Amino acid sequence: MNGHILVVGSINMDLVVRVPRHPQIGETILGGSFATFPGGKGANQAVAAARLGAEVKMIGRVGKDAFGEALLETVARDGVDTSFLFRDPDAASGVALITVDEAGRNTIVVAAGANARLTADDVVSAEAAFRGASVLVMQLEIPLPVVEKSIRLARKHDLKIILNPAPAQSLPDGLLSSVDYLIPNQNELALLAGNENSLDSSVQALQMRGATCLIVTLGEQGVLVARGSERRHIPAYKVTAVDTVAAGDAFVGAFAVAIAEGYSLLEAAEWGNAAGAVAVTRPGAQPSLPHRDELLAMLSEADQ
Ligand code: ADP
Repeated sequence: MNGHILVVGSINMDLVVRVPRHPQIGETILGGSFATFPGGKGANQAVAAARLGAEVKMIGRVGKDAFGEALLETVARDGVDTSFLFRDPDAASGVALITVDEAGRNTIVVAAGANARLTADDVVSAEAAFRGASVLVMQLEIPLPVVEKSIRLARKHDLKIILNPAPAQSLPDGLLSSVDYLIPNQNELALLAGNENSLDSSVQALQMRGATCLIVTLGEQGVLVARGSERRHIPAYKVTAVDTVAAGDAFVGAFAVAIAEGYSLLEAAEWGNAAGAVAVTRPGAQPSLPHRDELLAMLSEADQ
C-alpha cells in the first residue's frame, strides 16, 4: 500500500560558507567555499517521505525569487507535489545563513521570510490537499495558528497527525492532546516538559498534559516510545556517524511513511530509527536522506 502524506511546513535555502574562524562584531574576514543547499524541516521531511515511496503533498510558502524557484524545483525532483506551495510576491524565500569553521562549529541565522507569512487561510484554501491523505506531518518553523488550523482540517478529513515540535517552543495542552504522535528530540522534550530532571519524568509530565503517544529520539541512544504506561526503548544502529544534520527529519519522514502504510507504532519507530541511522552516515541534509532500498537494507540488518 502506498502511503499518502501531507506536510505543512517550512522550506528554506541554506547558504553555507566555510570560514577559517568566526568573525567578531564589525569585523570582515575572507571566507572559503560557498554553497547553497535546499532545507527547512518541512521540505526535508517531505523529501524524506517521498524518497521512501510515499505520495507527498506539501503546503508552504516561498518568495517569488530565484531561491523560491530553485526550492520548488528540487523538492519536485524528489517527487513532492508542489501545487500547494504558494509563491509570495511580497516576501523573500526563507534562508539560513550558516558559517562553518575549521573545527566544524557553526553559527546559523535563519530569516524565515515567506515561511512566517503562511496563514491559516492558506491552509483552508489548500483543503483539497487533505483529501485522500492519511497522515499529516508538521514542525514548528511556521506560525502556530497554521499548525492549529491544519490539525482541525486533519481531524475533519480523518488524517493521523504527527508533530515534530522543532524548533522547541512551549505548546498549549489542547494542541498536545490533539496530536496522535509527538516526536521531539531530547532537547525539545525537556523544553516542552518544563522543569523535569529525567527523561521519564518529562515523558510523564507531557502525558499528564494530554500527549497520547510520544516518540522521543535520543540521537546515538536510539528512540523511546511511550504510550500510556507502555515504554519501549529501541537502541540505535551501530554506524559511523559523519554528519548528524537532518537525522531527525529522516526519522520523522520514515515514521510517517510507515504509519501511512499501516505499520504498527513500534514498527514505525523502527523505520525512523533505520532512516536516522542511514542519514548520519552521509553529509548534508537532503542529500543524506535514504531511498527505500537503503532503508530496507538497514532494517534487515536488525533482523540478522
Ligand atoms: P535530531 O536530529 O532532531 O536532533 P536525533 O539526534 O535524536 O534527532 O536523531 C534522530 C534519530 O536518528 C535517532 O533517534 C536515531 O534513530 C538516529 N541517529 C541519530 N544519531 C545517530 C547515531 N550516531 N547513530 C545511529 N543512529 C543515529
